[in-house]
Amino acid sequence: MKYRLMDILACPMCRNFPLKLHVFQSESRYSVEEATRCELYCSYHDGLIDELEETRCRECYSVEITDGLLTCPKCGRWYAIIDEIPIMLPDNLRDRKRESEFINKWSGKIPPDVLKMVSRE
Ligand SMILES: [Zn+2]
Ligand SMILES: [Zn+2]
Repeated sequence: MKYRLMDILACPMCRNFPLKLHVFQSESRYSVEEATRCELYCSYHDGLIDELEETRCRECYSVEITDGLLTCPKCGRWYAIIDEIPIMLPDNLRDRKRESEFINKWSGKIPPDVLKMVSRE
């Protein structure tokens, strides 16, 4: 997924927006000459557009996040980004086995406070 997607993604359970993005691995893949900036929230610059001084949103279109984590500051849920796809499923459809494999694989890249959050379940 691109950084840009964070401008529209909300938590599927509590509808909170924006979510917090943690990037484990990314690739600068597309060359973008010009880009309109994110509308409400820019995850590359990590802030709401109204509050940011700098908004060079080219990266938001050109960088593909291959592996990462989305966390919801409101309800504490988290969602994996695996093979470029954010897995945003409601609680009853989550694949816990796949998720714990994912967390084990990337545990070294997850900030301690977030790791506490994801390994609680
Ligand atoms: Zn942006
Ligand atoms: Zn939530």
